Amino acid sequence: MSPPTSATSRDRLRIAIQKSGRLAEPARALLASCGLSWRESRDRLFCYGETLPIDLLLVRDDDIPGLIADGVCDLGIVGRNVLGEQDGERRNGGREPAFREWRALGFGACRLALAVPESWDWQGVSQLAGKRIATSYPALLSQWLAEQGIAADVVLLSGSVEIAPRLGQADAICDLVSSGATLSANQLKPVETLLQSEAVLAGPAAEFDAVRGELAQLLLRRLDGALRIRHSKLLLFQAPRRLLPALLPLLPDAEVPTVMQLDGEDDLALQALCHGAVTWQRLEDLKRAGARGLMVLPVEGMLA
Ligand code: ATP
Ligand code: ZN
Repeated sequence: MSPPTSATSRDRLRIAIQKSGRLAEPARALLASCGLSWRESRDRLFCYGETLPIDLLLVRDDDIPGLIADGVCDLGIVGRNVLGEQDGERRNGGREPAFREWRALGFGACRLALAVPESWDWQGVSQLAGKRIATSYPALLSQWLAEQGIAADVVLLSGSVEIAPRLGQADAICDLVSSGATLSANQLKPVETLLQSEAVLAGPAAEFDAVRGELAQLLLRRLDGALRIRHSKLLLFQAPRRLLPALLPLLPDAEVPTVMQLDGEDDLALQALCHGAVTWQRLEDLKRAGARGLMVLPVEGMLA
């Protein structure tokens, strides 16, 4: 069960995901919801696809873009921040783009932000001129500074960026932020957002061969279905036909409902796939507008 060595002779698809960390579990769960299952190797770095010829490689997230660029893996699940940074590095080095974002996956949300000491009276980006900014994202930061027309020193740090101002290594920082708690614990405040990030499915910039291309398309179709129904519910109810004009506006996030005529009556049975939250409040509003027998069902799968 060890991975075959030649990238070109493979007729299986290989997806790299984070071995452990923030994206590891949600990435696996998403792929499992697409009907994939695996047998794990003893070293737990390679998972052999059982239901489909789609294997997993468990790695550090930073290695994922490079594995795709080298053809060791076909696809990967990684933060847009990591993908963007490594794409920027390649461009700065005069190399061709080798990977790109295929789909946004809706988890691992965070933003790459510029933060300054709380004591600064923030007036705008021009305040950064001539300052030292610590970051682990030098390519994205340099690109942003260039777009803003600001000349500042980028100080590369691989970790603990948030303490750099207190240590006197930098005046400001550029780092990932989700809640902002780490920043305020270090007397910093976010002032600019450079990139909104989330986990993405990354793939090569070039086309696959026929076999892997078909597998990738199959996976994408399932993934699109899984992403569409992730927060969706199926709503069933009955109502007199004449009340439809009042009821339909209460379902703005629903796909065009399926309407069935009930035998011998003016009553209709409706079935609506809602993509937003179906709250008690909404059910009560629908009932007040004349809906009866309201029922909310989970959606397990969908193929458009
Ligand atoms: P690895 O050992 O794989 O290199 P890591 O320490 O680089 O792990 P994590 O901290 O697990 O990685 O973060 C992985 C990704 O999670 C980040 O690249 C980012 O896209 C996303 N993420 C979401 N919220 C945050 C956050 N608050 N801080 C850092 N990353 C976050
Ligand atoms: Zn990492």
